[in-house]
Amino acid sequence: MFKQIMPLSMMFFSLWAASGILFTDAGTAASDDKEKEEREEQEVLDFDELPEEIHPEVEEKAETLVEKAKEEDIDIKITDDFRSIKEQDGLFNKGRTFPGQIVTNAKGGESYHNYGLAIDYALEVDGKVIWDVGYDGNDNGASDWFEVADIAKDLGFEWGGDWDGFKDYPHLEMNFDYSIRELQKEYRDLP
Ligand SMILES: [Zn+2]
Repeated sequence: MFKQIMPLSMMFFSLWAASGILFTDAGTAASDDKEKEEREEQEVLDFDELPEEIHPEVEEKAETLVEKAKEEDIDIKITDDFRSIKEQDGLFNKGRTFPGQIVTNAKGGESYHNYGLAIDYALEVDGKVIWDVGYDGNDNGASDWFEVADIAKDLGFEWGGDWDGFKDYPHLEMNFDYSIRELQKEYRDLP
């Protein structure tokens, strides 16, 4: 699902608020560049070739999520991670030009899964994968599904259940502040 990102102006405001650095009036474009440079320095994403698997940092966080959920007596299964653009197109066609229910509004290239930056989870109960957001297997009065979402958010994931409009409850993504549009642009000229 394509999602709205925080407008850049808001991002810079948060940055400013957090760091106490005061940008000058002429600073918006300059800080735009600065933000970009900082991201590049982190080298979280490599734009030399299209990803073909889950991003290592996302994978590591996904493993931590499984462990931390287990500590709360919740077993989860990562049901999906990297998805090629072709696979995404196939998924998009489901319920449209192919039989079945519509499962996504994202075409190939429009999902963070296509860049290795998203995973989907589900609960695992008695060896079976279930998609029951109300299930409370650890019997603590809270939905296991939402507990997992909270742990994931603490680890830096953004949760599809927090989206306005269409909610994608199994979906977790780590977008490193790149919008889908920016990612498409960065990868566009690749062979
Ligand atoms: Zn997803």
